[in-house]
Amino acid sequence: MRKATFKGGIHPPENKELSAHIPIEQVNSIKKVVIPLNQHFGAPIKPLVAVGDTVKRGQKIADSQDRMTVPLHASISGTVKKIEAHLLVNNMEGPAIFIESNDSNEEEFLPILDPFACSKDEAIARIREAGIIGIGGAGFPAYVKLAPPPDKPIEYVIANAAECEPYLTIDERTMEESPDDVVDGLTIAMHIVKAKHGIIGLEDNKQHLVPILEKAIERKNTSLGFDIKIVLLKTKYPQGGEKMLITAVTGREVPSGKLPMDVACVVSNVGTLKAISEAFRKGRTVVDTALTVSGRACSTPKNLFVPVGTVVQDLIGSVIEVKENEVCRIVMGGPMMGPAVPSAVVPLQKNTSGVLFLNADEAQHYAEGSCIRCGRCMRACSCRLSPALLNRALSINDLDEAVAIGVLDCIECGSCSFVCPAHIQLVQRFRIGKQRVRIKMQKEAQRATK
Ligand code: SF4
Ligand code: SF4
Repeated sequence: MRKATFKGGIHPPENKELSAHIPIEQVNSIKKVVIPLNQHFGAPIKPLVAVGDTVKRGQKIADSQDRMTVPLHASISGTVKKIEAHLLVNNMEGPAIFIESNDSNEEEFLPILDPFACSKDEAIARIREAGIIGIGGAGFPAYVKLAPPPDKPIEYVIANAAECEPYLTIDERTMEESPDDVVDGLTIAMHIVKAKHGIIGLEDNKQHLVPILEKAIERKNTSLGFDIKIVLLKTKYPQGGEKMLITAVTGREVPSGKLPMDVACVVSNVGTLKAISEAFRKGRTVVDTALTVSGRACSTPKNLFVPVGTVVQDLIGSVIEVKENEVCRIVMGGPMMGPAVPSAVVPLQKNTSGVLFLNADEAQHYAEGSCIRCGRCMRACSCRLSPALLNRALSINDLDEAVAIGVLDCIECGSCSFVCPAHIQLVQRFRIGKQRVRIKMQKEAQRATK
């Protein structure tokens, strides 16, 4: 089997051995949740419930008519206690629905729907109604990806099974424990967009999953005849980036400012594909966050299904054990792209793929030096940018130059910061720089319409 890859990238320590062997545990003991209203990439949504209402797990509690939205569902049964702002994983306050459990196991489901017998519109509507967003990424509504405009035909649906972020093992466990659901979700996505080919892009540090996935593909193909293959990828960060994955498995390059559909591809995380399968076969809405809890300041690394909106602090002591004196940093997601949060009093979102409790060795912080023009950042950048030049343009506030040399193409992977011998916080600068550029563009657009 050939091993595909992309140019650039890095090899940070994997640290997956801490949790890769641990089966996913379903957590049902949560007494209260704080469900952020706006967990997806897109327009805000509004509550459909009021303080004092009784809700069931799986019941829709917020929605919007805007296209770039998905509804939210109660993740536990109980009473709505308040709707107000709370600290979220992005370190900003945002509106959230607070629910207190009534210890009922009741759950509301959508009617079962055959994805191969219903119309395309019904299938798309089901994926939206189930509240599915891209898991592990920015939270892009899954149904939008599966409804490209008519002039963008799709040839490939690519299952993103790279899980290239260190420590995270929830995708690996999902494929090991639910391979049929993942393959079923892939075939449903292929059917909706009429893609001829399905590819599962798997890093070679998870090679043991090949026979498991092959058997699941065989079981599916005997009944429906889909063309699905597994492409083994060199283990390299950020292999799970959409553009890198597409290049590695198809040889196609997504041009600057374009989307996967512009090269006839749709990319979907394996957890998202499992959720798509469950939305049809079981009528399940997204009520649990699937995540890895790890890091060397956590004495019980685990893979978990936890009700969406569970406050991380509420897991400590009852579900996981943390060496409180050793925690130097808490990261929501993987260590390369996940934001650090000031405390554990933040709720899990649908797309929170990990919580890491890092000790002093793992969270090393160095003083910044000056650029020595070594070029390492350029060689590491899989987007072919020149991070040192970007940094210089942003440091003198030359936003036009930063845009001209590609700051908006930066995927914020952090590879440049990782290799920089001067420990310059490049990716942090680029994140802020991109925000400044977008604000400037918005202001210019507003001025132009006046
Ligand atoms: S953070 Fe941006 S500039 Fe740095 S390596 Fe990643 S894509 Fe390139
Ligand atoms: S890796 Fe760091 S020191 Fe080397 S060129 Fe890039 S910014 Fe400068």
